[in-house]
Amino acid sequence: MHLCINLTWLCQNECDVCWLNDTIRARGDQKMMRTRPMADWTAALHRDKPKIVDIAGGEPLLVPWLPDLLDQNPFTKFGLSTNALSLQGVSRLCQRRRYNIVSINASIHPDCTRPEYERFFLAQVGKMVNRGYPVHCNLVDYGDDVQRAASLRQQLEEHGVPVVISPYERTDDLGDV
Ligand code: SF4
Repeated sequence: MHLCINLTWLCQNECDVCWLNDTIRARGDQKMMRTRPMADWTAALHRDKPKIVDIAGGEPLLVPWLPDLLDQNPFTKFGLSTNALSLQGVSRLCQRRRYNIVSINASIHPDCTRPEYERFFLAQVGKMVNRGYPVHCNLVDYGDDVQRAASLRQQLEEHGVPVVISPYERTDDLGDV
């Protein structure tokens, strides 16, 4: 069994293209939903015993107990989809290598308004790579800042980090970067 779990709908980014804008964030009842406690997720994983769990969000590294969830399910393989913007979240994950994480997808958002986004993102990805995690990046909504997207892609690839353009991007209109 392969599951995708959305630990939280919270995110520090504000992407125009985010699928949550027209779904979860547009529904008042969902907006008020709190993140379920770790015990609920652990109980469900112990009950269903999935072979692979893809952790997504929102931004899952904002959830402080995420490393504990990994540690309590050592025989489950996890993938993680993150925007890598949480300094604390990446630090927590990198306190040691969790070998049940088999893939990390760090999404590149060239239009992110965080100060010094480019330098910060590269440093965050570098921390995870240096800790031994298998990281690849995907380029999202690069049409708003093609130059920055190309620069990030080049720097990541120079450091051996694979980069793909998200399959839903309009490459016919936007061109490659
Ligand atoms: S980083 Fe991801 S979850 Fe956060 S706003 Fe952007 S698309 Fe949505």
